[in-house]
Amino acid sequence: MIISIVDCYTDEPAGLGVPPYLGVYPRYIAGVAFSHSHQCFYLRIDDLRPEKRGNSTLTMNSTLNANNATRILEGSHIIIVISGMHTPGKYLAAVPGTPSEAIRLLQGYRGKKILTGPAAFLGTGQTGGRIVHRVQNSGYDLVIEGDAWLWLEQYLTSKEISGGYSRLREFAVKGSEIVRQIQLPIIAEIETGRGCPRKIGCSFCLEPLKNKPEWREQNDVKEEMASLAHEGVEHFRLGKQSDFYAFKGGKPAEIEQLLKGAASVSHKTLHIDNVNPALAATEQGEAITRLIVNYCTPGNVAAMGVESFDQSVIEANNINSTPEQVMKAIASINQCGSERGDNGMPKYLPGINIILGLIGETKDTLEINLQYLKRILNEGYMLRRINIRQVEVFPDTEISRQGGLKYLKKNKRHYYKFRRSVREDIDHEMLKRITPVGTILKDVFMELYDGKHTFGRQFGSYPLIVGVKQRLPLREFFDVRVVGHMLRSLVAEPLTSSSSQIDHQAN
Ligand code: SF4
Repeated sequence: MIISIVDCYTDEPAGLGVPPYLGVYPRYIAGVAFSHSHQCFYLRIDDLRPEKRGNSTLTMNSTLNANNATRILEGSHIIIVISGMHTPGKYLAAVPGTPSEAIRLLQGYRGKKILTGPAAFLGTGQTGGRIVHRVQNSGYDLVIEGDAWLWLEQYLTSKEISGGYSRLREFAVKGSEIVRQIQLPIIAEIETGRGCPRKIGCSFCLEPLKNKPEWREQNDVKEEMASLAHEGVEHFRLGKQSDFYAFKGGKPAEIEQLLKGAASVSHKTLHIDNVNPALAATEQGEAITRLIVNYCTPGNVAAMGVESFDQSVIEANNINSTPEQVMKAIASINQCGSERGDNGMPKYLPGINIILGLIGETKDTLEINLQYLKRILNEGYMLRRINIRQVEVFPDTEISRQGGLKYLKKNKRHYYKFRRSVREDIDHEMLKRITPVGTILKDVFMELYDGKHTFGRQFGSYPLIVGVKQRLPLREFFDVRVVGHMLRSLVAEPLTSSSSQIDHQAN
């Protein structure tokens, strides 16, 4: 049987699959297909978009199957589309596809068309600040809300099989073979757990609705990474979990075992994602922070779901940390992680996510948020990233029952000024603090032209965007020297080309 995957890319609070990230969904599905000796082809939505052909920037994400996409799809018995943006952002060199775009591009192919990924569970939001509806009348033969890899195994074997991480083990390893169909370099998103350890989750979050809490075995993670490394992957992020610090009860010994195993696999980048400030603020959390600094590579970011500094909003939305816990976590991570590493970036810094439009938000909420950010700046800390997004209202969440977009609509007219103040008064200053003029950043991967300028970034968790005022070859690594700062990106001059990663194509 021929099974094709069409990756429209995914972005969730727990898990990223937008290039250069390769998410877990395609790898697990391919792992089942390969394990049962079926042919499996990996395509990306960019391989199917006719307007992208022949444009060097826009074909950045093409797979090695791009030129044969039509023939592959004509011969496919099953076509599995992966899609879903639950925390949509702006992407440097990728435009995610939607289920409707994919089904339009797949018209005329006879294979059974299946939709999976976050969009299949509770719809997809491409921009933020909207009510998201379930996918209906989608044109697909089947919409799989749960694990598509499990469905595929049941379909191929005609057996009832129970899922879970013990069943996933072999497929996660086998799925690494899919990397042979992609241009390297990529960064592999690695799953360590699912679900939220809190009994009642935050008002806007889908994770407690999607998954019961479960953690992977450390050795399974290590074996999957080793298998990916064997296929040439050098960049990894332990990013698919709701809170890295909560792994197996947040016990430092368990987390050390996880990190030690991951670090023993050959790699250039080892980062993490998702940190609950309430845990990072504790003594146990500080021990975990030290382990992360010790085992991971520099430029690492603790993206913290702060969401709001306004106590009344925190309570109304059942958010997990108080502003003082956030301040403590920021101090602790700065203390342990601010030393500069060998790629030019501080080793490990905190980041903050803020959500606008939450239950109970007022104009004062924005002022309180700004005052806390100013306090962080004035107390001399470094914040690597302040991510501000408008709430997405998904079906069945508490916010959908308590007014939906009511607060967002009421306060929207104040958002522009708030964002502007954060960008000008906080972000810009932080950027100068983190990467002063003269800083040398190593291994910046060039991804995009804009006029005569080239934009790139290092591999990792929330890397800084670097602009160079000349056209450099795309898909090559350069060491650069910082010469200036935009609001949220750097201006740099190239030193030497440090390209060390070779595409399969060139082999
Ligand atoms: S702590 Fe809140 S945002 Fe994080 S996974 Fe749980 S419910 Fe979601």
